[in-house]
Amino acid sequence: MSANSFVVALDVGGTSMKGGLVSDSGAVLLSERRPTPRADGPDAVVAAISTFISDLAGSGDGAPAGVGLAVPGLVSEHSAIYATNLGWRDVPATAFTTLDVPVMLGHDVRTGGLAESTLGAGRGLSDFLFLPIGTGIAGALIIRGEPYGGSSGWAGEIGHTPVFPDGEQCACGQFGCLETYASAASVGRRYSQRAGLEGIRAEQVVSSDDPIAIEVWDEAVEALSLALATYTLLLDPSVIVLGGGLAEAGPALFDPVRTRLVKRLAFREAPPLIPAALGVDAGMLGAALLGWRAAGRPELGPGWAVDVRSEPLVS
Ligand SMILES: [Zn+2]
Repeated sequence: MSANSFVVALDVGGTSMKGGLVSDSGAVLLSERRPTPRADGPDAVVAAISTFISDLAGSGDGAPAGVGLAVPGLVSEHSAIYATNLGWRDVPATAFTTLDVPVMLGHDVRTGGLAESTLGAGRGLSDFLFLPIGTGIAGALIIRGEPYGGSSGWAGEIGHTPVFPDGEQCACGQFGCLETYASAASVGRRYSQRAGLEGIRAEQVVSSDDPIAIEVWDEAVEALSLALATYTLLLDPSVIVLGGGLAEAGPALFDPVRTRLVKRLAFREAPPLIPAALGVDAGMLGAALLGWRAAGRPELGPGWAVDVRSEPLVS
């Protein structure tokens, strides 16, 4: 490996960070997961990221060509503008590393969507929705091959579209949001509350014959099909790529949502629903693409053959 033939890529989540070194041919030369020290405050997280980047870079041969970071919240290429769960406000990209290399930031879900678009389930497709369903729900709108951020960076918050107007209040303050009914966390929470139990996980609800579980899952499916019908009618995606922990349910999720989506659409065909391909690596691989863009190599990615699914998803 010669100098400058790799980038440092980091996917920063609320509980853990996945980092790696990715070569200009898409080889993941090294990957490592570390906890996100969120409890220690916003500056501690920035410092931990900087250390992580330096440690990863130090394992490479020579200096990295660039650094790509996928981070939550409101994000531009040059700044982490606002992230409630990490306490960040206007943290410039340059604050995340002491190395003298170009850095590019991306929104976590959109960066995962960029990876699915370039390397994964959406490879070769111009327009689609990437929808990871985990603790929360947010989507990456891939339009003409690129994730679309909207006028102010808030595009993709499909989890907070109202699906049941008089429904339950969401943590965001609105009522009847998709996420309140259909995120993995919500499915587990809603079943636990109705059944008078504690700590039941979504995957237990999906596979249960209990009438309460069937009802809760049916409401989740209904909420998803409503939101996906709206998305389909607005943006005409070629496919809908479902990912995140809940997509691990496989046919128990895909089949009923597909059936209801088809029923909801009267005058047009429903787009195929397909599973995401990159699993937990999507954010890190997308960050690598950003790192190469920062390094002035935006053409890299489409020809890469990547190994995926190095570890199971968790919801
Ligand atoms: Zn909401």
